[in-house]
Amino acid sequence: MTMQYGPSYVREIAPYVAGKPISEVAREFGLDEARIVKLASNENPLGIPESAQTAMTRAAAELGRYPDANAFELKAALAARYGVPAEWITLGNGSNDILEIAAHAFVEKGQSVVYSQYSFAVYALATQGLGARAIVVPAVDYGHDLDAMLAAIEDDTRLVFIANPNNPTGTFIEGPALEAFLERVPRRVVVVLDEAYTEYLAARHRYDSIAWVRRYPNLVVSRTFSKAFGLAGLRVGFAIAQPELTDLLNRLRQPFNVNTIAQAAAIAALGDAAFLERTAELNATGYRRLAEAFDTLGLEYVPSFGNFVLVRVGNDDGAGARVNLALLRQGVIVRPVGNYGLPQWLRVTIGLPEENEAFIAALGKALAQG
Ligand SMILES: *Cc1c(COP(=O)(O)O)cnc(C)c1O
Repeated sequence: MTMQYGPSYVREIAPYVAGKPISEVAREFGLDEARIVKLASNENPLGIPESAQTAMTRAAAELGRYPDANAFELKAALAARYGVPAEWITLGNGSNDILEIAAHAFVEKGQSVVYSQYSFAVYALATQGLGARAIVVPAVDYGHDLDAMLAAIEDDTRLVFIANPNNPTGTFIEGPALEAFLERVPRRVVVVLDEAYTEYLAARHRYDSIAWVRRYPNLVVSRTFSKAFGLAGLRVGFAIAQPELTDLLNRLRQPFNVNTIAQAAAIAALGDAAFLERTAELNATGYRRLAEAFDTLGLEYVPSFGNFVLVRVGNDDGAGARVNLALLRQGVIVRPVGNYGLPQWLRVTIGLPEENEAFIAALGKALAQG
């Protein structure tokens, strides 16, 4: 008999599928890296803000020493920006780290975690990694069904994950509906509100989740520098919650989970209002262009509040993989979402105007190939 290592709940985890790196696609398909368009990981097409680039170069001189484990300056900047005490902030190596830490902090093996069908893959990974039980609530119109999620909470439920806007579907819950949900969730259940795309919301859709953190002792708001702030490769995320929860998160956090360069870059990016504004504008324009192209091609898509769009590229379960391969051959990388149970769909990140055009042209050809 072959040896089986590790608990069964770890062996049963389906590994996270990341967007294909440009170098890998170039090798695999014999393409020139410079001509490959990557719209697969919801990165900011503008890249790193120049302000952050400058801060990184300066911080590099300090790399012989350990990072500031408490990230005094970054926490001070976040505290000022969001109007909370520094004691309410937990830093993560990306917000993925925050999601993992939260699962470990609030849930024991055997207890349950509630999240929605078609919500971010990391919720399932964090739950399974603990040997906890996932209660996956069917989505409505590809988004969260908050009433059903509330009804799904059981006696042993300790955590609810909500992504708003959600990835990979791009759906959004308006503030009042979310607040009504928070009001009704039992206080023993922690709610992690994952707002990775909040900076992309138009003014009329914004709501004040930090005010909710003051009101609800069981709420953790999670944010990231990976999307609108343009620092995906540096891995910085953070959580805002009342001190009782924050204290638990910080006990589990690895002391040096955010490195020196990342801390410096995040401070600079946080202060770069012009970059955020350009990012949101570029995204809104790109979204309109993609929506128009999908309409022209007769493709269904889910209206998106993030920096990506979920589009249905066929009516058979081979469609996503087939069209994805046809796009890869043309040097366009998007994200197949069969692992989310959406085999007829692709998720495409909104890029620079020329990247969007390259994708649209390649998609037209891919679909014509049938
Ligand atoms: C991209 C994303 C994150 C952020 O990941 P990082 O670890 O911060 O890079 C978190 N939640 C959702 C829903 C996302 O799409």
